[in-house]
Amino acid sequence: MYDLLIIGGGISGMVCAITSARRGKSVLILERAEKVGKKLLATGNGKCNMANTAGIDGKYNTTFVNDILEKYNLDVQRKFFHSIGLLTKEVEGRIYPYSEQASSVLNALRKELDNLNVRVVVSESVSRIDSGFMVNGYKAKSVLLATGSKATFGESSGYLYERYGHQNTNLRPALVPMLTAPNNLKGLRGVRVKALVKLFADNKYIGECRDEVIFKDNGVSGTAIFNLSLMLARVPYKFAYLTLDLMPEYNYDEVKALIKKLGGVENLFHKELVNNILRKGDDLDSIAKTIKNYQLDNARLGSMELAQICCGGLLTDDFDSNTLESKLQKGLYASGEVLDVDGECGGYNIMWAVASGMAVGENV
Ligand SMILES: Cc1cc2nc3c(=O)[nH]c(=O)nc-3n(C[C@H](O)[C@H](O)[C@H](O)COP(=O)(O)OP(=O)(O)OC[C@H]3O[C@@H](n4cnc5c(N)ncnc54)[C@H](O)[C@@H]3O)c2cc1C
Repeated sequence: MYDLLIIGGGISGMVCAITSARRGKSVLILERAEKVGKKLLATGNGKCNMANTAGIDGKYNTTFVNDILEKYNLDVQRKFFHSIGLLTKEVEGRIYPYSEQASSVLNALRKELDNLNVRVVVSESVSRIDSGFMVNGYKAKSVLLATGSKATFGESSGYLYERYGHQNTNLRPALVPMLTAPNNLKGLRGVRVKALVKLFADNKYIGECRDEVIFKDNGVSGTAIFNLSLMLARVPYKFAYLTLDLMPEYNYDEVKALIKKLGGVENLFHKELVNNILRKGDDLDSIAKTIKNYQLDNARLGSMELAQICCGGLLTDDFDSNTLESKLQKGLYASGEVLDVDGECGGYNIMWAVASGMAVGENV
């Protein structure tokens, strides 16, 4: 009989296991993959952007996260990571492991799981929970669902709690490249710009982001697009488009004056982008208009296989916002991305996975 059985050895499950084992609880992790923390290794382009200093206001889809993220804030999380032998550092507000290697985070977590004698069983997929709680032949007083989402790595197991009356909201890919109509993409594959990108859905302004855009054959990627994809995933829409202001530092008249002064647009952008701009009209007015309003039509979310996170998950109303215990079944908990919680690019999703894991670990 274990005090706590954790389904899913992602960062949330591992942090919960450590927190709980430090309180003297016996803990078992069942992980479907052949090793724990596979997704963690892929995060932040292998560097693992694990948190952010900018505060949490407006960064998540729901205020359900507030109590837990206030209690297990950045300082608390930093101390936790120091306590398992991991130093972190800040780069422009983003927190990374000092080594800038996601593998350092995973190594530190695994070492501490070992030190605390947490039992980890890999290649052990859970497809049902029997009353008791009995899971794959193991008995436990409490069960944590920390199975993440199906973004990038496939199948999610949020359905495991449906027998207790828990429901999943509609699941959509987010923090994902966007597909767009081919016009205005010609020859631009791999070209990067810093732009102010605005998103419109069904002719309504949805939001904007000023950051990097990377052109692809069939659409666009980059931090600006990732953040806007999250906004698009959160609204119902039939037709969406993006507009790029390619020179956000200057207004329309200033752009015109600059081009006149420079004698052309040739040296302002990558030559393929210049070709696309001139294709729309090569007089001064048209050039300035295209630069300030480079439109990409029929914007859609890319596939779940390319997504960093999944919008949607287990309805948070059914969980206590401090302990994450189910309101429908005593002894059941959920943490991390399996819940209907999504955060912006910049470390907010791991920050939630860690904080929620700590919350369960301290309350179970
Ligand atoms: C490419 C990529 C880059 C990312 N970069 C960042 C970043 O830089 N910063 C950031 O904040 N977020 C990033 N994210 C998002 C972040 O990785 C997730 O939000 C976070 O890992 C969620 O943690 P979790 O523990 O809830 O779930 P996961 O890390 O997904 O772990 C869940 C675990 O449960 C296991 N599992 C699932 N079902 C079962 C089952 N039935 N039985 C047993 N085990 C099961 C899975 O195999 C998995 O190991 C990125 C995601 C991706 C895909």
